[in-house]
Order: sequence, then structure tokens, then C-alpha cells
Amino acid sequence: MTYLFRMAALASLTALAACSTPGYRSLNPNCLEAHVQPKYQRDGHQDTTYMVARLAGHSSEDAALLAFFNQAADDLAMRYAAPQVSVWGTFGAWGYRHRINAVLHSLHGGDQAVVAQRRLDLANMIEARNRSEGQASWQTGFLIHALGDSYAHTDPVGHAYGETYGHLFDGHAPDLVGNRPGLYLDYVDALFDALELDTASDREAFSRFKTLIRNAPEGDIAAHRAAITEMRDYYPDTARLECDALAASLSMREVSRFLRDVEAGFGRSGES
Ligand SMILES: [Zn+2]
Repeated sequence: MTYLFRMAALASLTALAACSTPGYRSLNPNCLEAHVQPKYQRDGHQDTTYMVARLAGHSSEDAALLAFFNQAADDLAMRYAAPQVSVWGTFGAWGYRHRINAVLHSLHGGDQAVVAQRRLDLANMIEARNRSEGQASWQTGFLIHALGDSYAHTDPVGHAYGETYGHLFDGHAPDLVGNRPGLYLDYVDALFDALELDTASDREAFSRFKTLIRNAPEGDIAAHRAAITEMRDYYPDTARLECDALAASLSMREVSRFLRDVEAGFGRSGES
């Protein structure tokens, strides 16, 4: 019976997936032809990662890869996004569902201390990868996604949302930069520190960016998006990626294995 349920769920999701276009095809400047402008900005994950990585000293291509794979966690929705996996994962894939929600999208529940520890763990993992050569950018991109969500997926008192319902009851409000700019600034500081390449970073431009964010009125979503775009335009070169090929290179099995390893590494910050 469970098998039949699972097959029915997979069949309907396959049909749904076939007609949904991943957002990178119209919303990621690194995936579009040079003359095509994205329809609108994607602030929190994709554009912030691209821009902070560049300010931290990474090339356009490296920054674009990190941003692409960060956003892939939401873009390749059937495979990796929290709302979709929460539905189909209920049909016998609880382990995968747990890793997608509680690890990749930081919907792990817990109080401020738990949240602080998760942010520290993820930042340390990103920093360690940043210091060593030859790390897969999809893995670093996924870790940056989890770091961003460890800030965004907290409620007004600073507790993490849990993996059962996510932030269903607060809608998309927690994901919008302009609603909680202070929290966003904490996130970009942590990301910049983790990604910084000491000889190539541009701290002056980074603090200009933070001033732009501070000057945007709280709650004004468009003003915060404009600040992020303005900073993105600070760099004239924009790498072009083969985004369909990159998307196809990700496998659920490898992602699942990676998230299992990441989870096993949590709570070890401070140990040597
Ligand atoms: Zn997420």
C-alpha cells in the first residue's frame, strides 16, 4: 500500500516538475545572455552570495557558481526545496526529507543558543572549505544556503522554525531581507568573514554596501533589493555559466550523502 502511495505521489510530482521552469532561466544574470536583464531581483540567496563573494575577493566565475548552487536549493524545487520535498518525502523518504529541511534549509527547531551554534558551525565549515583548494562549489553553495536560512528561518524571538511545518504560518515574510535588515547584516558579516580571501577582498566596498542597507527603511523590500542590485553593479564583469548543465550535474544521492556528513559535523565547533 505504501508502495502504491509512493508511486502515485512520484507520478504526480513528475508531471508537476515537467511543467515548472526553474527560476535561474529568467532570474539569474549569470545564466542569461549578456543583453537579457533578469525579470526582477532575487535578494537574499542568489544576489547576496554573488556580491558578498566578490567583495570577499572571489572571481566572477567563482562567485557565480556559489550563487547558482546556493539558489539551486530552492530553484530545483522538486529535488531540494523544503515545501516540495516536505510533501513527497512524507511517502517513505523521511530521512531525505529531514536532511533537506533540517540541514539544507535550517528548519531544525530550537532556541537562540541552538540557532547560534548552527550559524557558527555552518560559517566554520564554509571558512574551512574556503581555505582549502579543490572543494566542490555545489557543496559550498549548499552550505551558504543553509547559513542564510539559519538567519532567515527564525521567528521573531529568534527560535528556529522546525522541520514539520517550516515557516508555513508566517508565509514568506521571514525570507525577505527588508523585513529584518539587522538580521541580514549579521548574515552578510558572517558570510563575508567565511569567504574572505585576505589579499583580494575589498573591505571598503563591503562597508559601503552595509551603509546602503542601513540607509534603506526597514520594511521597504524594494529599497533593500535596490541596494543589493546597486552593489552588484559595482563589478562590471559578469561570468556566464552553463546553468542547465550545472543543474543536471547535481544528484540527489550525492546531495543526500553530503547533507548526512554535514549533519554529523554539527556541534563540533570549538573542538580541535
Ligand atoms: Zn532554504
